[in-house]
Parts: sequence; structure tokens; C-alpha cells
Amino acid sequence: MPASDHASRTPMTRNDSKNALRIAILGGGPRGLAAAEALAAQAARQNQPIALTMIDAQGLFGSGPNYDPGQTEMNLLNIPLRLIDIPCPTHPHPSPLAFSAWLRDRHGIDDPEHYPARSHLGGYFARRWRSLVDTAPPQLSIETATATVTDLTQTATGWMVHAGHAQLGPFDRVLLALGHQHAADGQIEKWQAHARRTQADFLPAYPSAPLLQAAHRWSGRTIAIRGLGLSTIDVLRLLTLGLGGRFDAERTGLVYRPSGQEPRAILPFSRDGIPPAPKPASAEIDALYEIGPEAEARFASGLGTILSRDIDDPLKPLSALLADIATPIAGHLGMARDVLSHWLAIEIDPEAHHPIENRPAAEIMATYLAMAENRTPPSPGYLIGQVWRKLQTPLRKAFNPISISARTAESLVRFDEDLKRFSYGPPPQANRRMLALIAAGLLDLRAVEDPDIVLVADGWRLSGEETDLAASVMIDAVLPPGDLAAVDMPLIAALRERGLLAAAGERLGIATRPDGTVLDRDGNEVEGLAVLGRMATGSVIATDSVHDCFGAAVTRWAAMAAQNPDVR
Ligand SMILES: Cc1cc2nc3c(=O)[nH]c(=O)nc-3n(C[C@H](O)[C@H](O)[C@H](O)COP(=O)(O)OP(=O)(O)OC[C@H]3O[C@@H](n4cnc5c(N)ncnc54)[C@H](O)[C@@H]3O)c2cc1C
Repeated sequence: MPASDHASRTPMTRNDSKNALRIAILGGGPRGLAAAEALAAQAARQNQPIALTMIDAQGLFGSGPNYDPGQTEMNLLNIPLRLIDIPCPTHPHPSPLAFSAWLRDRHGIDDPEHYPARSHLGGYFARRWRSLVDTAPPQLSIETATATVTDLTQTATGWMVHAGHAQLGPFDRVLLALGHQHAADGQIEKWQAHARRTQADFLPAYPSAPLLQAAHRWSGRTIAIRGLGLSTIDVLRLLTLGLGGRFDAERTGLVYRPSGQEPRAILPFSRDGIPPAPKPASAEIDALYEIGPEAEARFASGLGTILSRDIDDPLKPLSALLADIATPIAGHLGMARDVLSHWLAIEIDPEAHHPIENRPAAEIMATYLAMAENRTPPSPGYLIGQVWRKLQTPLRKAFNPISISARTAESLVRFDEDLKRFSYGPPPQANRRMLALIAAGLLDLRAVEDPDIVLVADGWRLSGEETDLAASVMIDAVLPPGDLAAVDMPLIAALRERGLLAAAGERLGIATRPDGTVLDRDGNEVEGLAVLGRMATGSVIATDSVHDCFGAAVTRWAAMAAQNPDVR
């Protein structure tokens, strides 16, 4: 296997078998880790020698950048400890500790309502990676390479992996577990060029370290943030707690005490200006939305029927199914089924708007927080959103293992993405803090809904019907979509241009079989090439969750990948 110093490889374990299946996993984040663990189990079970090479751009094996153990502890998971359920690998025996036990032993944290730091989960994943390397079954050898892969080519002896001028391979199988891939965005490119020409600053929300460093220079300046989701919440923590500010609980509620290092004002904005709804504030409140295994199974079976029919508007029967599942919960809360059905009819109508979400953003934030804390009854949207959160696993179970028409996949993915404002909600504390920042005059929501943005000599002007505000810093807190057509990273772009990758539908990711095997432009299987996770959105659903990384899709891939030792 030729390799140059641009892709230095480190053997971690040895496997002297000449007949080993040569497998490369590109991407060493949680999904790459889960795939390697599943492969170890298959190698042992099938007594199949496998030579695994894990290749990652940043060398953060196990954690990937989103759970980088070196990042600030201010970046939090959006799931409380009581809801984190990451299965342990089946090999080795005994398997590593569960995350909750590890967090207690390592950091002394065992409060089920605690939202862990992403760095803590990353420390756990890095530990799991080391544990895999230390205890790999004799059938599995592991080596790592830190390299940004720019292309893959098929040769008579297998797949060659290119990292600039360096090459690794050949491999019998290659799995892409690359996470979010950068997408071309004309507006962002214009803003970046503008910042380079002027005194204005333009930075992405991640990585956090350079952002925090730059924030120390932004005292007294006005900062615009593109996006109003979870990444914006991360950025707000950096621009307040990260600069020495603190939040004090007072009789009247949470109060922000500035350090004097903060910017003058922070102006987040998004296309619809609707803030996400926080998760229920305790296990007791969350239990109000419990649906139970029988209803979960009913949902998975009902959805399976809808997905297999390729009808014009699958969201109509899906709404009826969801209303059925949510009706008993609504009943306990004094809400009639009709109210749920009416809300769902508006939700699936692209032209309609929910009256509650037409209110000013700060009011929506306060209202959803009151629902999360059970100080006020939930709106039908909040209720449906929590039920949808609890249905994420049955949703994947029904959607992922079957082939679905492009139009059905497009509708379902859009519906799921839209409901993320509830189902991927932040910790309630994030909303309390945002309201305290509004009261302190630091967080300014006047430009929150789709402002017109023009470039001016010293930055940007954000204007709306009654607003005209200037900012000299712009932070991009919008994550790229899982849209194959928009990706501009060399590896994906090269494979797409050659027709080896095709979209599962409009604005969707890569078309694959349920085991991850890629389907080319003509719908034929690409032997030995598979994709899992975000970039396969449309072939699979609800990938943006750490639970999905360790789900059934990875096991399906490993079972397929460890077969057919005679592929060469
Ligand atoms: C900022 C952020 C915060 C998140 N927070 C949460 C959360 O709180 N809870 C939750 O459930 N989910 C969260 N998610 C969703 C998240 O996507 C998953 O939890 C998880 O990180 C996905 O794992 P992955 O391995 O698929 O992708 P990643 O973790 O992104 O790993 C992909 C790996 O591939 C590597 N790579 C990419 N391109 C190449 C290339 N060309 N060559 C070589 N290597 C390459 C990258 O370096 C990276 O290490 C978050 C996502 C982001 C972006």
C-alpha cells in the first residue's frame, strides 16, 4: 500500500492474514466509531479477517469535531443525561462503560437533568475508540491515517483513496461517514470577500476556539448572527459566559450580569424568525408526552404502509396517523383531536402559518418556555413536536430499511426538518438565558425575521419594515444542508461529477440501499462504496442525532461489509 507523508498511517493492531478484507472508513466521528465497532463484532462473529483503515481529516478518532474533547465546555448537548442511550458495542466482553457511568466516574456528574458538555461525550467516544483498538478481536487489524480525502478511484485491485497527492489503498470496501459537508453559498462567499476588503469580521460558528478568541476584540461592536437554532445558542454562550458575564437567579427570574467585555448588541436572524422550543424541563413534565411501546409500534407499522404506497401527498395520511397517536396524550391535557388535526393541516400547507408563530420572537420564546416548564398548557404544535421527538426511532425503523420514492422521501424529510424546531429543542435554560439577555439589552431581536441585508463600508445593514440596524461582525451559525447538489467539498463533488453519486431526490442527499451501498446515476449499485449519515439524507432520515450514529443502519452496513471475502 503506497502512502506519502500527506496521509501518514499508524498501525494500531496487527492482523497477518493475507486474505483479509481491506476496508476503509472515511470519517472518524461517532458514526465512523460505531461502524468500526460493528465491524469488529462481525469480524469476530463470521471469523472473517479484516484489515481496517480509519481515515479522518482532523485525526479526532471517536469524537469527530462536534464532540472534540478539546473544545469549550460551554458547548452543550441538546439532550439531558436521562435521555442519552448510546448502546455499548457487542465486542469486546465485557463492553466499555455506558456514558452515564463514565460521566459519573470521570466528571462526578449524575444529575439526570444535566445537559452534558459535548466535550465530555467526545472524551467518552475517544475512550471507546481506544478501547476498540486495545481489545480488537484477532480477526481485525486497525490502522489510522490523518488526511483529508479528495477523491476515490476504482482500479482492478480495488478502491484507491486520494488525499491530495497521497494515495492509500487499494480497498475492497470504502465507507463514507463524513458528517456535514460544506455547501456552496453565494451569499456567504460575498460576505467573506466583503470582510476581507473591509474592517468587518466574518466567522463561522465552529470551531469555537477562534470565535472566542476573536470575540475578545469585539467589545462594544454589534454582531449579527445568521441562524436562530442550536448553533446560535452555542455562539450566545461564547459571547456572554465566554467573555466573563454571568447569569444570576433572582426572585424575578434570571438576570444577566455583564463583564463589560461583551459586544454592544447581538442581532440573530433567520428566514422565518421563529426560535426553537425548549425540551420539557424535567422527567415528570416529559412524561406527559410519553407514547409507550404499543403506540410506537402502531406508528412504525402505519408509516410503513404510507411509505410503500408512493402517493401524491403522503403527509396527509401521516398527519392522520400522528393525530391518532397523539390524541390520548392530548386528551389528558384537555385538548381535542380536532385541534391537533387543524394544527397539522396548517403545518403541511406551505402557504399557511401558525398564529402563535406570527407573534414577536421574544414572545414565542417566553411562551414555549412556559410550556416546557408546564406553567401553561402546551400548544398543539408543542405537543405534536414532543410526540414527534419520541417517535424518532420508530421513524427511522420504518423509513431506513426500505426503498422509498423520491417524492415521498422529499415530503417526509421536509416535514421532519420543519418539526426540528420542537423535536431538536434546546435546554430550557438556553431560553431562560436568551430572555435575560433581551432584558439586559444585549440580545436584540428587531431584525430577527428575514431582514434585507446590504453590504456597507464597515459591515452589514439589516433592515425590515421598521428596522435599520448596522453590524460590523457577521457570524454564520447555519449548518450546511444534506443536499448532494449543493456540496462543494472535493471528494463528494468529484464522485458526483463522475455520476458515481446521485441524489435520492430534490434537495436530498445520496441515493443508497438500506445497507448504505451507493446507487449511481443510473440506479446501479456501486460495488464496494457505501455512505452513512447526514450525506445519505433521503435514503435515511433523522440522521442529525448522536443516537442515529449508533443505530441499525451501521449494523446493516457492517453485516454487508464483512461478507464476500472473494471480492478481489
Ligand atoms: C455543531 C454540531 C453540534 C451537534 N450537537 C448535537 C447534539 O447535541 N446532539 C445530537 O444528538 N446531535 C448533535 N449534532 C448532530 C451530529 O451531526 C451528530 O451527533 C454526530 O456528530 C454525527 O456524527 P458523524 O460521525 O456522522 O459526523 P461527524 O461527527 O461530523 O464526523 C465526520 C468526520 O468525517 C471527517 N471528514 C469529513 N470529510 C472528510 C474528508 N474529505 N476526508 C477525511 N475525513 C473527513 C471529519 O473530520 C469528521 O471527523 C451536532 C452537529 C453539529 C454540527
